[in-house]
Amino acid sequence: MDLLPISLRIATRQVLVVGGGAVAQRKAQLLLRAGARVRLVAPRVRAELKALLPPPHEILERQFLDHDIDAVVLVVAATDDQALNERVHHLAVARQVLVNVVDQPALCTFIFPAIVDRSPLLIAVSSGGATPVLTRLLRARLETLIPSAYGSLAALMGRYRAVVKERLGTARQRLRFWESVVNGPVAELTLSGQPERAARLLEESLQGAGEPQRGEVYLVGAGPGDPDLLTFRALRLMQQADVVLYDRLVAPSILALTRQDADKIHVGKQRAQHTLPQEEISQLLVRLAQEGKRVLRLKGGDPFIFGRGGEEIQELAAANIPFQIVPGITAASGCASYAGIPLTHRDYAQSVRFVTGHLKDGSCDLDWPQLVQPGQTLVFYMGLLSLPLICQELIKHGASPALPIALIQQGTLPEQKVYIGTLATLAQRIAHESVKAPTLIIVGEVVRLHETLAWRG
Ligand code: SAH
Repeated sequence: MDLLPISLRIATRQVLVVGGGAVAQRKAQLLLRAGARVRLVAPRVRAELKALLPPPHEILERQFLDHDIDAVVLVVAATDDQALNERVHHLAVARQVLVNVVDQPALCTFIFPAIVDRSPLLIAVSSGGATPVLTRLLRARLETLIPSAYGSLAALMGRYRAVVKERLGTARQRLRFWESVVNGPVAELTLSGQPERAARLLEESLQGAGEPQRGEVYLVGAGPGDPDLLTFRALRLMQQADVVLYDRLVAPSILALTRQDADKIHVGKQRAQHTLPQEEISQLLVRLAQEGKRVLRLKGGDPFIFGRGGEEIQELAAANIPFQIVPGITAASGCASYAGIPLTHRDYAQSVRFVTGHLKDGSCDLDWPQLVQPGQTLVFYMGLLSLPLICQELIKHGASPALPIALIQQGTLPEQKVYIGTLATLAQRIAHESVKAPTLIIVGEVVRLHETLAWRG
C-alpha cells in the first residue's frame, strides 16, 4: 500500500488554496463541503470563485507569500506556474503541512480520492494518481450500485447507536439487531424514501427485538426482457427477496439476477393455460408474507399495464401486508425503442393507445370506431392470435388497408424480430413464419420510421 487512506476532520480548520482558476475552484468547493475555512491566494481570482468565499474565508488577490502558509492544516496548489507549485510543496513539507499539487503526484503528500458521497457514509477510490480515468470509472460504477438513500440509512443507524448499545446488553445481540435493520424492512423503508416510518419501525423492533420478522411483498416490473432495462430499485429488491414468484414473461437472464439461494416459484402464465389461477397467486403471496418472508412478485414489463398487479395488491392490502410497487418499462416502450418506431411523432401521431388484443372467445368487443382515429398509434398487447381479426376490423371501420403495421417478436432480447407490413398484408405475410411469443403489434404511420430509425432487429 503506497498511500494510507484516512478521513480528515477539517471543519472550521484553516486551509490554503493557491490558485484562482477553475481547478482551484473545484478544490475549494470540496474543502467547503467538509466545512473547512479557506484562505485563497492568487493574483487573479475568477468571479464565481470569489462568490464562494465570503468572510470568514479569506481571498488574498496578490502573489503568494511564504507566510500565507502559516497556521494552516493543509495546502492545495492549483496554479500553472511550475516554479510556484514546487515552492509551495517545499514550504509545506518543511512545516509538516499536508500538501496537494493538483495533477502532480510527485509533489503531493496527500491526494484527493474520487468519492461516492452518501454522507455520513463515504467511499473513497484512489489509484494513487496512477490512473484517474480508471478511478473515475470505478466511482461511477459504485454510484450506480449504492442507492442514494444509503446516507439516510447510515444517519438513522448513527442516531440510534448509543440507544441500542444501552438497551441490548451483549455485542452479539446488537450485531443481530443491526443485521436485521440493514437486511429488513427498516432499510427498505428508508431506501424507498420513508424515513419517518423507518425510524418508527426501528423503535418498535428495538422494543420487541427477538420477535418474529414481518414479511412484505415487492411487486416489481422486470421490463420487457433486456436485463439492462431493469431499474436500480428492481435490482436491489431482486437481490434481497427470500422467495420469488415469476411468470413466463420474465426472461431467464433476469431471473438469474435474483438472489442465488431464494426459492423460485413459477406461477404461469401461458396463453389459455394459466399455471396457477390468479386467486391462488394472490393467496400464495399473502401466505408467504405472513410466514415472515420477503416475497418478490416479478412481472414482465410494468406491473400496472395488463399485469393484473392491481388485483394482487388489493389482496395484500386487505390482509394488511406491507408492499412496494416498482414500475418497469412496459413492452410498448421497450419494443418501440428497440425497433426504432417512435410511438408519437409530431408529423404522424399525437396520441397512443395501449389495447389488449386478447379478445374474449374470438369475438371483437373492442370499441373499433374509437381505435380508428387519425394521428393515433395503436399498440396491441397479447394480439398475435387475433392479428387477422384486428386488421380486418380496423379496415372495416375505416382504416386504410395500406396503414403500416409492425409485429415485434421477443422485443429488446437478442432474438428480437420485426415484421413489417400493412393492415392488408401482414397477417398473410407471417402466416408461414414460426412466430414466437411474446409479440407486440404497433399500428400507425409511425411504423414507417422503422426503416430509418431501427438500430437492431
Ligand atoms: N405487464 C406487461 C404486459 C403483460 S401482457 C408489460 O407492461 O409489458 C403480456 C403481453 O405483453 C404479451 O402478450 C406481449 O404482447 C407483450 N410483451 C411483453 N414482453 C414483450 C416482449 N419482450 N416483446 C414483445 N411483446 C411483449
